[in-house]
Amino acid sequence: MRIDLHTHSRASDGTASPADLVGGARAAGLDVVALTDHDTTAGWDEAARAAVEVGIELVRGIEVSTTWRGRSVHLLAYLPDPHDADLVATLAAVVERRRERVPAIVAKLAALGIGVDEAAVAAVAGHAAAAGRPHVADALVAAGVVRDRNEAFDRFLSPGRPAYVHRESAPLLGALAAVRGAGGVAVVAHPWGRGSREVMTYEDLAELVSAGLTGLEVDHQDHGPAQRAELRELADALGLVVTGSSDHHGTGKVDHDLGVNTTAPEEYERLLEAAGRSARAAGEHGARAVEVVPGG
Ligand code: AMP
Ligand code: FE
Ligand code: FE
Ligand code: ZN
Repeated sequence: MRIDLHTHSRASDGTASPADLVGGARAAGLDVVALTDHDTTAGWDEAARAAVEVGIELVRGIEVSTTWRGRSVHLLAYLPDPHDADLVATLAAVVERRRERVPAIVAKLAALGIGVDEAAVAAVAGHAAAAGRPHVADALVAAGVVRDRNEAFDRFLSPGRPAYVHRESAPLLGALAAVRGAGGVAVVAHPWGRGSREVMTYEDLAELVSAGLTGLEVDHQDHGPAQRAELRELADALGLVVTGSSDHHGTGKVDHDLGVNTTAPEEYERLLEAAGRSARAAGEHGARAVEVVPGG
């Protein structure tokens, strides 16, 4: 069983359509794939149809952009009711911040004499429900300003670079409550990626476990072998489910091929059991259960 629990489609900043992503997962020899676009469920239906067609188990998820003690934390949410009012409002607020940020970045680029306008970004981000810096990067590539997304981030879009614009995201505890209220389960994505180690200590994670956190993404390209070993110990000590994934973005991110990291079957089972419990609890308040799409 090969299980990859974190991927992106064109509904956010991946480069493949949801159907092509799911087909690609099957072709890569995966048995289970989760679609976890940033802040949107827009790709879910197409992915579900494709999963039935190609015969791969699909877990519908979201990677929610959140803030915790002034730092960015990405929260993977699996199997929440996509119509839950609190969750819908949480995601809508983040998507609106994303939408507002594009013209602000474009204005900074204009000040640098780079004529990539909003229409140029829209032209490359046409399918995305959640717009992001990677789409601005794609527009810079299309305009011949940079070679790839990586160069766009290095020169213009990363914090400290001249076209960087900050964006507000959802408070972590509120997002976690929304995911649980919608009958889903939550896993902290790449907890120690990009220098976020300080905000994800044992004490921080213990607090999040009390608030309803289910798992920790340990095997991720942002973590080296020593970090993975340490994170595994933390997860064990806290009873957290350990996941692994590619964080695949199509051709938008190198070294993130489908299946490059995977989740152990027994950990996946634990995650699904927790999701079942969460859905039953939330069902009492009207949330509808979302099941995995079976691989057939
Ligand atoms: P945003 O969500 O708009 O803040 O943009 C962050 C996204 O950009 C992340 O989800 C990454 O997938 C992507 N990203 C960040 N750095 C790079 C990079 N150097 N190359 C390609 N994609 C990147
Ligand atoms: Fe991304
Ligand atoms: Fe992330
Ligand atoms: Zn991701």
